[in-house]
This record gives sequence, structure tokens and C-alpha cells, in this order.
Amino acid sequence: MTAETEVTAENEIRNVIVIGSGPAGYTAALYTARASLKPLVFEGSVTAGGALIQTTEVENFPGFRDGIMGPDLMDNMRAQAERFGAELIPDDIVAVDFSEDVKTVTDTAGTVHRARAVIVATGSQHRRLGLEHEDELSGRGVSYCATCDGFFFRDQDIVVVGGGDTAMEEATFLSRFARSVTIVHRRDTLRASKAMQERAFADPKITFAWNSEVAGIREQDGRLAGLSLRDTVTGAVSELPATGLFVAIGHDPRTDLVKGQLDLDDDGYLLVDAPSTRTNVAGVFAAGDVVDHTYRQAITAAGTGCAAALDAERYLAALA
Ligand code: FAD
Repeated sequence: MTAETEVTAENEIRNVIVIGSGPAGYTAALYTARASLKPLVFEGSVTAGGALIQTTEVENFPGFRDGIMGPDLMDNMRAQAERFGAELIPDDIVAVDFSEDVKTVTDTAGTVHRARAVIVATGSQHRRLGLEHEDELSGRGVSYCATCDGFFFRDQDIVVVGGGDTAMEEATFLSRFARSVTIVHRRDTLRASKAMQERAFADPKITFAWNSEVAGIREQDGRLAGLSLRDTVTGAVSELPATGLFVAIGHDPRTDLVKGQLDLDDDGYLLVDAPSTRTNVAGVFAAGDVVDHTYRQAITAAGTGCAAALDAERYLAALA
């Protein structure tokens, strides 16, 4: 980075900075760009394009009758935002200061960027099991979202890992499509609410592998072909035939960056003054999965990204 650009970044006060480049960030960028606010967008250095970069086919984003590959959908969103003048930077923001009217964000080179409004759209990270082949089989038998991928597993044998409400919900949803659903849980009791447990227990397609964890996954022709279970009490290992593995052990919202500056809920998600996207700090808005632990879909993230852009636009108009 040249001295000249550093000085420019330090001195220029932007209208709006967007942190994040998933469906929420790019939609916020598109709307603020079309409102002539010239947004500066930090896309992140590793996963620019967000969670959908990791997947194959997306069949439930409206407007794509035949589906679209996740990376292509994100390329389209990126290009659409850029077409209207969004300035996109493939870098991480490592620090923020929201204490003044003019907010600052600092990139990895230490350059400080200033703006009157900031939209936080940093998403959330699903927890992985940490197994060999897990990443390469993501979207090829391994999934982290039943709503997204359940449809692809019609008449198949599926394993769901987890013992909380999400795991029970995913399992009961998947039983509509699957031939069988096995819930693998490390303990012999569930964390899920009583109502969710009862629904799962009553479902004839669902069985439980108690005191069990997935020890390994087997790949054949680039897809999940089976897995092995380890008994957490005896250590015995057994094979379980399955062509679908849904990991439902939780998500971690990416809020470390704003901790101490913005209000978070007990699970670490950003709190907003719903139905608006306003955080507890005037001029800072939040959208997408960093706020949402209920829906977690590309279309809902895009929807709140749009709302954040409109909220920011109105906030800036009121300052003028
Ligand atoms: P994300 O997409 O997670 O994007 C967050 C962005 O913030 C990332 O680009 C990251 O790089 C950036 N970022 C984070 N921290 C920083 C920082 N400090 N500085 C700069 N940038 C930062 N949904 C569907 O609707 N249909 C599907 O078929 C579907 N399939 C899925 C398959 C997989 C494997 C996964 C993981 C998810 C899937 N989802 C699907 C869910 C969907 O991807 C998410 O709901 C959606 O991407 C959330 O969008 P977001 O913009 O809030 O966050």
C-alpha cells in the first residue's frame, strides 16, 4: 500500500462501510451503491463470497429456476454490486471503533478507514466435526443445513449429529425425504427441548445411536459412502452405511470484532432493534447470519442486507 492511499484512507470520510461479503454484505453493497453512497466493502481475505462459496448447487434462491452453483451465485452478487460502484476490498477488518459519530475500521495493513455508517455482515461459522475428508465432501454428502440440502437426499440413509433443538429439527425435517435418519449423540440424554425430543422419538423413520460419535467418514467417487461410529463409553468402533451426514452441532457468529462495542445476545449473536437492523450504536447496522440464529438462509441474509442498506441510507439522510 502506498503512502498516498494510506493518507487518503485516513482522511476520507465515507458514507458507509460494509464488513462482509456473503449475501447480506453484497446486497447491502448493491443497495447502498445504487443509492449513490459509494460503499467501501471489506470482503474478508479467506472466504470472500461467504458461506455459499463452500457449497455446490443452490436450488432455493429465487430467480434461478434450474438452480445455480453457490460460487456462481456469489460471483453474480459481487459483480452486480461492483457494477453500481461498490468498492470491494478482499481484506479483513481487524479492529473497529464505534465510539464516535465517525466510525473507524482498521484493515490488516493497519490502515484506518472512516465512515458515518457501518453495516456489519460477518456471518456465522457452522461447527465442524473436524474429520478427515469433511471439507472436501461438504456439498457431496456432508451438509450443515437440512433446509438447504434435504431435498437432495430422497430415499437415502442419513445421519444427523447433535443432541440439541437444531439436530432434532433437522432430523424430523429430513425424515420427510430420507429412507432412514439416525441421530448420533455423544451422550445418552438429549439437550433438546422436551417437545422437540418427543417429535423425534415419535417419528418412525428416526433411530438413535446413543453414546456415539462419528470416528471417520468414507469417500467413494467423490461422495460420502459411509461412516464409522465410536462408542464413547466402550471405545468400540462400528460401521454405519449412510450417504448423507448432517452436522448439527451449532454455529459461532463472527462477532469477536465488535465484542464490547455492540450488544450481543447470550449466544453471541448481534442484537438489533428488530424489525430494523439498528444495533445499539447509532449509525451501525447488522444483517445476515451474524444476527440470525433462526432462519440462516441466503435469501433471508440478502433480505436483511437490503434492510440494513435502507436503514443506513435513512440514517445518513437524517444527518444531512
Ligand atoms: P456469510 O455468507 O457467512 O458471509 C460472511 C462474510 O463476512 C464472509 O464473506 C466473510 O469473509 C466475511 N467476514 C467475516 N469476518 C470479517 C472481517 N473481520 N472482515 C471482513 N470480512 C469478514 N442457504 C440457502 O439459502 N440455500 C442453500 O442451498 C444453502 N446452502 C448452504 C451450504 C453450506 C455448505 C453452508 C455453509 C451454508 C448454506 N446456506 C444455504 C446458508 C447460507 O450460506 C447462509 O445463510 C448465508 O451465506 C449467510 O449470509 P451472510 O451474508 O450473513 O454471511
